[in-house]
Amino acid sequence: MTTTRFAPSPTGRLHVGNIRTALHNWMLAKKEGGRFLLRIDDTDAERSREEYVEDIRGDLAWLGIEPDGEERQSQRLDHYEAAFAALKEAGRVYPAYETAQELELRRKVLLGRGLPPIYDRAALELSDAQRAAKEAEGIAPHWRFKLDHDETIEWEDGVRGPQKFDPAQLSDPVIRRADGSWLYMLPSAVDDVEMGITDVLRGEDHVSNTAVQIQMFTALFAAGVGVQQNLPNFAHEALLVGREGKLSKRLGSLGCDAFREKGIEPEALVALLARLGTSLAVEPITDRAALLETFELSTFGRAPAKFDDAELDRLNTAIVHQMEFADVQHRLPHGMDEAGWHAVRPNLATVHEAGEWWRLVTGPIDRMDFSAEDRSFLAEAARLLTWGDDPWHGLTNALKEATGRNGKPLFLPLRQALTGMDHGPDMKELLPLIGEGEVRARLERAAHG
Ligand code: GLU
Repeated sequence: MTTTRFAPSPTGRLHVGNIRTALHNWMLAKKEGGRFLLRIDDTDAERSREEYVEDIRGDLAWLGIEPDGEERQSQRLDHYEAAFAALKEAGRVYPAYETAQELELRRKVLLGRGLPPIYDRAALELSDAQRAAKEAEGIAPHWRFKLDHDETIEWEDGVRGPQKFDPAQLSDPVIRRADGSWLYMLPSAVDDVEMGITDVLRGEDHVSNTAVQIQMFTALFAAGVGVQQNLPNFAHEALLVGREGKLSKRLGSLGCDAFREKGIEPEALVALLARLGTSLAVEPITDRAALLETFELSTFGRAPAKFDDAELDRLNTAIVHQMEFADVQHRLPHGMDEAGWHAVRPNLATVHEAGEWWRLVTGPIDRMDFSAEDRSFLAEAARLLTWGDDPWHGLTNALKEATGRNGKPLFLPLRQALTGMDHGPDMKELLPLIGEGEVRARLERAAHG
C-alpha cells in the first residue's frame, strides 16, 4: 500500500513551503488509496516545542489534510538505539573525536585549496590505543555513518529523473552527537523502513541526504532492520520561491495563521499549492477528488515554483464566489440569511467582507450629497415606490417613464441614496433585504437632504 509521510520538526510553525510538501504527500497517498503519516521529527529536544506540535496538527486540520497516523521520533529512541547497535556490529558506524573547531579548520583548508570540503575520515585511522587515550582524556566521541565508497548511489527520482552520486564525493555523515542525541539522518531512515514508507517526497534541499540515506537503507536491510527490504521511491520537488524568483524570508514565515487572517480559504491555498510548479493549470478547484485525479509527479517541473500572492487572491475570490450559504453560515454577520449571502457574494474577495456589505442592508449607511435635480428625482422615486416581487425593476421602470432618465443618471442616484455608495451588490437583490419601509425612508432622507 502506498504510504507517505510528512515529517516536520516542531521547532516553528509550518510555512507555505512545508504546507506544500504536506499536501503533496497527502495527495500522493490518497490518489492511490494509501496512507499518509504525520511524523514529528522531535529528536532535537532543545528546539522542539509541544505548542508547535499542536499548531502543526491544527494547521493540517484547517487545510483538511487528515493524517492516517501520527508518529513521534522522541518516543522511538529505542528503535534508533537498536539500529545503531546493528550498524555498529556491521562496521558501518565509527566514533570520531574532532571538535567542531578542528573540523571547521580542515574545511577551510580544503576550500582554500579549491577542494570539496569532504570529511577526510581521519577518525577511521585511529588505533584502539589512540581511541582509548581520547576516552581517558574524557572526550566522548560523536558517531559517523561509514559510506561504502564501492557502491555507486543511483535512483530514479520521481521529479528529477535519474540521479547518480559517487559516495567518495560525500562526507560520512555525523548521525549521533557526543551527548548521545540523534541528528536527523539515521532516525529518519529507520522510521522510513520500519513504517513501511513507500514514497519519500520532499524538497530538493534533501537530494544529497537521499544519497546518503540510500546507503543507510541498504545497510539497515543487511542488518535486518525494517518491515520492508525495498528502497522507497524518492522524489524531490523544486523549491518554492517568491514572485521575484528568490527564496524569500517572507515565504519562510508565511503560515496558515497569516492566510486565515487575510481571509484566504484553505481550499484556495490547496488549489494553488496542488498545482503550482506543475504543468497543470492552476484553477479554482474545490473538489479534492478532482485535484487528486490529476495529481501526477511527472507533471512537476524542475524550475523553482513561484508563489504569487496575487494569484492566491484571485483564486480565493473565485472560490468564495462558489461557496454555498451552508458552508459559510457560521462565519456570517448575525441575521444574514441565504438571500443576503447570495446578494453580496459576487462582491466578495473574502468571506470577512460580507460584514461590510451587510451593513448596507442593516444600516446605517453613509450620507451623500445630491444636486437639487437629483433630490427631486429621489422624491419622485419615493412617491413611485411600490412593493412587489421585484421592487427594483418596478421602481426603475416607473421612474424611466415619469422622468425620461436612463442609464447612469437613472441608476446612480438611487444606488447612492439607498446604499451610500457608488457601487456594490445587485440592487435587485438588495432591495427586498432592506425592506419597503427602510427603502422609502432612505429615498426620502436623500430627497430632503
Ligand atoms: N524533519 C525533516 C525536515 O523538516 C524531514 C525531512 C524528510 O522529509 O525526510 O526537513
